[in-house]
Amino acid sequence: MSIPSKDIAHILRTEDDFLVTAHVNPDGDAIGSMAAMGFVLQHLGKRFTLYNQSGLPRDFAWLSLPAPITTSIPDCPACWTITLDCGDLHRAGDALMTWVDRQRLINIDHHLGNPGFGSFNWVDTSMASTSQMAAQIARELGFPLEGALGEAVFLGLTTDTGSFSYDNTTARVLELAAEIVRLGLKPGQFNAKLQNQQPLERIQLWSRVLSRTQLLDSGKIALVTITRQDLDATGTGMQDTDGIINTVRRIKGVAVAASLREDGPKEIKFSLRSSGNVNVQPMAASFGGGGHKNAAGGTIFASMSEAESSLVQALRTFAETL
Ligand code: 5GP
Ligand code: MN
Ligand code: MN
Repeated sequence: MSIPSKDIAHILRTEDDFLVTAHVNPDGDAIGSMAAMGFVLQHLGKRFTLYNQSGLPRDFAWLSLPAPITTSIPDCPACWTITLDCGDLHRAGDALMTWVDRQRLINIDHHLGNPGFGSFNWVDTSMASTSQMAAQIARELGFPLEGALGEAVFLGLTTDTGSFSYDNTTARVLELAAEIVRLGLKPGQFNAKLQNQQPLERIQLWSRVLSRTQLLDSGKIALVTITRQDLDATGTGMQDTDGIINTVRRIKGVAVAASLREDGPKEIKFSLRSSGNVNVQPMAASFGGGGHKNAAGGTIFASMSEAESSLVQALRTFAETL
């Protein structure tokens, strides 16, 4: 039986010219797994480009990268593409969709419902982060997870496990983290870079948005909305909203937390969060999105009030089953 990580390691060893990408509006796992894969290719002496339609978020500007992250696709007709942390190909952005050679497409991901859109697919929903998968490829190729490679893997691991607190924090995850720490990473110093560099404006946005938190269905559902006006009034942007929903999930008795963010006049990004066995992925999928059991999202193309009422209706129906 073929083992996807070994097949992929073989392609990396024998081919050349790779475009490495991840989902738009990248989170720590998207950036961490891109960086990790880039370091692996660098160690192999290959030509590669790190591409993300949204670029490198300011929050990760401190991370050591093997190459800059570009927002324009290079002129590279024979390139292999590696998509990381993309539950479907659309998540990599429209520009990549039209450019990509489907015969040379490697899909490495851990999302539920990934349809296997690549010519090589390694989709494993038991993985806590895509960076954990990148670590496995590094291991296949004999590269120790030290220095910047270890840090990149750790970034994906810590962000996708909620700092090693969610259900996906398995013994294997902690063993991998321990291996990276043994090779020199200092978690305290790392977390100070990741978490303690917030702009004051972000805290002001959070307090404004959180003060309007609504509890529905006897407190089983918590809902927050983030409008364009909230962002403008506090001088913040989309990247400052990441994590608001996780705070709302902490409210006692809440089974599902939901947030709606106004990305355009008729473009509302929604996020869903749950704990334990409550699976929010199917609800996100029913609105054309996707994700994981306890963290899913998508976009509703409607006004804020229309999006809010259809999401609340779906949440109420879902809450009856809990
Ligand atoms: P977030 O709510 O933080 O944006 O995303 C939570 C999870 O849902 C992430 O794993 C993310 O990849 C996934 N997700 C968010 N938006 C979409 C979407 O539009 N489509 C799909 N397939 N997954 C999404
Ligand atoms: Mn991600
Ligand atoms: Mn991920």
